[in-house]
Amino acid sequence: MPQILDGNRIRDEIKSELKPRVAALAAQGRAPGLAVVLVGHNPASEIYVRNKIKSCQDLGIFSASLTPPESITTEELLALVRQLNVRPDIDGILVQLPLPKQVDTKRILLAVAPEKDVDGFHPCNVGNLVAALPGPRACTPAGIIELLRRYHIPIAGKRAVVVGRSDIVGKPVALLLLHEHATVTICHSKTPDLPAVCREADILVAAIGRACMITRDFIKPGAVVIDVGTNRVEDRDEAARIFRNSAERLAAFDKRGNLLVGDVNPLDAAELASFYTPVPGGVGPLTIAMLMVNTVASAEHRTGLC
Ligand code: NDP
Repeated sequence: MPQILDGNRIRDEIKSELKPRVAALAAQGRAPGLAVVLVGHNPASEIYVRNKIKSCQDLGIFSASLTPPESITTEELLALVRQLNVRPDIDGILVQLPLPKQVDTKRILLAVAPEKDVDGFHPCNVGNLVAALPGPRACTPAGIIELLRRYHIPIAGKRAVVVGRSDIVGKPVALLLLHEHATVTICHSKTPDLPAVCREADILVAAIGRACMITRDFIKPGAVVIDVGTNRVEDRDEAARIFRNSAERLAAFDKRGNLLVGDVNPLDAAELASFYTPVPGGVGPLTIAMLMVNTVASAEHRTGLC
């Protein structure tokens, strides 16, 4: 039987470890502060931001929510970021992506002060990651490593295959696995014979954004399967195919009109993997937990506590 990697449990563990660190900062006169910039009204982004702010509240981290209109220009958003860069009460700045089309996302991310870049997206911090120097790491990739570490899953010497080469998940998680001494292959949409490459993986990370694309043909028996994908299936026939007509899952579909699934077929992962992350409840909760870790670490650094 495979073991489920329980992201909610690890998130709670991480949060309880953060509480005394937040208390120590508060005792010095100032709780850590996170600014979240949410442009316009993207419903998915609104949910992510709400969850991030709730997490701050749970931990006693001060959060400032800035909600400029959809019509904001690059220059206006740059000015807002620069104000946050110099605010002493703000230790972390998060600009929720995606930004509207008229805004130059790269310029905005470049404008965030590297020491307040709790998303780890600034080129300085990407450089720190490549060079294995200290600095904030991108939250989802850092969460994946944390999950493996806390379940005592060995990485050194293992074959890791990462499907997806985005700047926010695929590339950084591949580098983190490399730094943990895995032998890493990065795959993408032009990789020939993807199932064969994936079947070489002791640790398979799927960060694709395609509902349940990774099926049994991609999974080596006994592999550790990390499913980063978050996809909504809105077609009942597709849900029936993915869950092999499971009455329970179809009832859930009928209730909500959709189902949240990952990039990996969960039934195939359950049959073949030694460990796997469920969706929801696997990698997702770790992303916010690592954002909290980065914010607290930034505050400690800025107040000279570490
Ligand atoms: P991107 O769209 O930026 O990248 C997707 C990657 O998958 C690309 O590198 C793309 O290749 C590759 N890809 C697409 N189709 C195929 C295919 N048929 N075969 C092989 N590779 C393919 O996505 P993200 O990295 O931002 O996100 C990936 C998934 O993870 C999404 O579902 C997203 O919602 C989820 N996510 C979840 C988070 C969480 O906290 N749980 C956080 C962040 C993301 P190419 O480069 O060649 O186009």
